Amino acid sequence: MSQIRFYNTYSKQVEPFEPLQAGKVKIYSCGPTVYSHPHIGNFRSFLMADLLKRFLEFKGFTVSHVMNITDVGHLLDDADEGVDKLEEVARKEKKDPLEIAKFYTDSFMTASKMLNIKPADSYPRATEHIPEMIDMVQSLIDKGHAYVVGNNVYYDVTTFKDYGRLSGNMLDDLNAGARIEVNAEKKNPQDFALWKHDPRHIQQWDSPWGRGFPGWHIECSAMSTKYLGEQFDFHTGGEDNIFPHHECEIAQSEGASGKKWVRYWMHTRFLMVDGEKMSKSKGNLYTIQELVDKGFKKNAIRYALISSHYRQNYNFTFDGLKAAEQAIDKISQCVFLLRQVTAEGDAVRDEVPAFIEKAINDFGEALSDDLNISKALAAVFELVKDANKLTDANTAEVKVILDAIERIDSVLGVLETSADEIPPEIMSLAEERRTAKLAKNWTRADEIRNELTAKGFVVEDMPGHDYRIKCRDA
Ligand SMILES: [Zn+2]
Repeated sequence: MSQIRFYNTYSKQVEPFEPLQAGKVKIYSCGPTVYSHPHIGNFRSFLMADLLKRFLEFKGFTVSHVMNITDVGHLLDDADEGVDKLEEVARKEKKDPLEIAKFYTDSFMTASKMLNIKPADSYPRATEHIPEMIDMVQSLIDKGHAYVVGNNVYYDVTTFKDYGRLSGNMLDDLNAGARIEVNAEKKNPQDFALWKHDPRHIQQWDSPWGRGFPGWHIECSAMSTKYLGEQFDFHTGGEDNIFPHHECEIAQSEGASGKKWVRYWMHTRFLMVDGEKMSKSKGNLYTIQELVDKGFKKNAIRYALISSHYRQNYNFTFDGLKAAEQAIDKISQCVFLLRQVTAEGDAVRDEVPAFIEKAINDFGEALSDDLNISKALAAVFELVKDANKLTDANTAEVKVILDAIERIDSVLGVLETSADEIPPEIMSLAEERRTAKLAKNWTRADEIRNELTAKGFVVEDMPGHDYRIKCRDA
């Protein structure tokens, strides 16, 4: 068995994987900015985190996974200028930003469930962690990494020697580049805002620097520290997060703690649609629901989005989805036929454990190699081929084969039944209960819990005001 290894965006090399703590893995994933329905490109990145997590569990690790929900501070150009993505929608629709956030958080949760993504242990919301962000900003000021100008706080990038290591955007090159924004307040053009003052902003909080709102980057540093500690194993995201977002996160977290923060940075490449970049104007920003409405199966969408290597651009096409459906059918058909076997027997022929061991081993070895999914899937179809050849199998052999397929599917997640699906109205009720609890409206929270129970669902409370819903009999 070879060592598990991953490509680390930080070192730009494939590195052997050593967890910080034996047997345990901590993963932080940049989650959605909840101002629109997440599209297949977003989900390709969330599915990479899901595949990583499921694979590490397959390998016997206990995984803690945190994914943030950005509901304030993410400005349109990903940097310090422009309007807040969420507030722009709130203004257009004449709604409260939190209402917009709730609507699109529901949409994200529903689509994640449709794609059989294992829920994170918590989904901290930025607006519920303002005190933690203020503390971190204060600590950065105290340590000389940040400075206050009027009611704004900026990070002085020249105080952090490794700024640029992740993205390769070293300061000298950046400053020589054409796009230097004009902001007389900043000491250096690349300094970024930790706390911003803007009277037009709808969501505002009190801080030692006056009323304002946090920058986008500080939320991930503050919330990952709160839920995973000052050091953890993995940080995932889309390649568009590398700069400025993740570069700034490193400067903040390591600036505040003085410790090496994340061990492995993993980034998913862009998704193309029919060979073109995704864009609103082209109308190809498909959501999961839109694809389901077109008649595609949810597990086929999942399969298609995980079936190519995360470090390659993936070209999404409807033909690709149909091919994914056929691939799953091949496995399902094999499982179906095995389940029809009635020939009793407890003798297992030598070749059965032999091909199964080979398939499980090849599958694990392929994913150990920086999640080489194509090779892993080849091992699955080899197993299917061998199982199909065994036309005279007995029940004992069937059990061994089905157990192996189940073990493989604990990683792929494409065969699981849809029996445990949570309907959108149940998700919405659970969200309402969460809001009621936050407002300390215990009566309403209890009412909703009873209503959920009556409808056959159990809601379990989790850290960070989070919750999990399950079918009562699941
Ligand atoms: Zn982030």
